Amino acid sequence: MPVPELPEVEVSRMGVSAHLDGRVISNIVVRTPKLRWDIPTSQLQSLIGHQIVRVSRRAKYLVIETAGGDIIIHLGMSGSLRVIDKDVALKKHDHVDIAVGNKVLRLNDPRRFGAVLFSDIDTAHAVFAKLGPEPLTDDFNSGHLIAKCAKRKAAIKLVIMDNPVVVGVGNIYANEALFLSGIHPQTPANQVTKKQLKSLTTVIKEVLAAAIKQGGTTLKDFSQTDGKPGYFAQSLYVYGRGGQKCLKCESTLEEVKLGQRASVFCPQCQRKRMCSKVINNLISYDG
Ligand SMILES: [Zn+2]
Repeated sequence: MPVPELPEVEVSRMGVSAHLDGRVISNIVVRTPKLRWDIPTSQLQSLIGHQIVRVSRRAKYLVIETAGGDIIIHLGMSGSLRVIDKDVALKKHDHVDIAVGNKVLRLNDPRRFGAVLFSDIDTAHAVFAKLGPEPLTDDFNSGHLIAKCAKRKAAIKLVIMDNPVVVGVGNIYANEALFLSGIHPQTPANQVTKKQLKSLTTVIKEVLAAAIKQGGTTLKDFSQTDGKPGYFAQSLYVYGRGGQKCLKCESTLEEVKLGQRASVFCPQCQRKRMCSKVINNLISYDG
């Protein structure tokens, strides 16, 4: 099971939203005192009786908004949400229930890296403090990415996965976007051309939007009691395909570790760009 990425979280948001928007919270049950962080049970329970205005998303956080405060949920490495009848038997790792009448939003998280937090309506929660723009909004544009890359020597793959630069580009979609833009993942960010960064900006939006659209088609199963909602078979060019043939040129895809995450690329379609200094040295050796 892959880590939930932005498309999975957005699809979960759509599924949850359809069941929760406009409903009144009738109960909140916390069975586990701590996931990644302590769960603020009494603050959360202060929202019983409040109507859910909407379920929104910021980066990979779901935000259940009420006039009394917000419930913030992060799925971590292995979290999933189901909307089920309130008398459905508990499964192992079912940690939190948010009930609306006879339905329950139930969080399951075997590895417990997820989070359930409370935010009052006056102040933004600390988890939102250093987040960059949302990738699918106009705030994330080529000018922004070019500015962020100008002074960074880190590998471009690490820069596009850095939350202060842009949120929600996880390992799967970073691999895919770099392949589709023809950029080697280890290229220092400040050596990627402006033209390539423009292409990368567009492609990041396209791969995320396509994944959300694909996930949306499986949404009808969201409230089933079995199976994980929000995950979908994906057609991927490079992620998880190291050692296999490139779907464009049939070269063998290579794999390197970057920031402990697998990076798969095509050595033909994603050539490493050499800076002019290196090229000049090569010329002088030749001559
Ligand atoms: Zn190729």
